Amino acid sequence: MAAYDPDNIFAKILKGEIPCHKLYEDADTLAFLDIIPRTEGHTLVITKESAPDLFGISPQGLGKLMAVVQTLAPKIKTAVGADGVLIQQFNGAAAGQTVFHLHVHILPIKDGVPLRPQETGMAEPDALAMTAEKIRASL
Ligand code: 5GP
Repeated sequence: MAAYDPDNIFAKILKGEIPCHKLYEDADTLAFLDIIPRTEGHTLVITKESAPDLFGISPQGLGKLMAVVQTLAPKIKTAVGADGVLIQQFNGAAAGQTVFHLHVHILPIKDGVPLRPQETGMAEPDALAMTAEKIRASL
């Protein structure tokens, strides 16, 4: 299992040291918009347990995380008018993981609209704020 760095970017978001466009929070999880959205409404759901990846979390914690993904994904899909939802989760740099705090991507997909390339860069804060507002209103 990978070591957990308590100063990783998502740990800082959890501690409130870095802002995020929060969509949902409970005792075990936090959901917020990805700062480099691959689609409109691209959301990250993270655990509050200090787990670097899927293999570092308790089965109970994983169950709670996935239950939130299951609840939020269809609501986010509806809020942005998408046709489907891609759920992604990466483990290890070789698999594409860049932030080593367990998280699940919720990517609403519209028919015929491809994912934006990662190189597109950060979204405009105003655009993220509008999307977050739209989603929060539907949760
Ligand atoms: P990974 O490849 O590790 O599954 O994805 C990490 C995700 O975190 C990427 O999609 C990236 O855009 C997102 N991300 C990285 N830093 C930040 C940040 O400071 N704030 C937010 N909201 N998302 C971030």
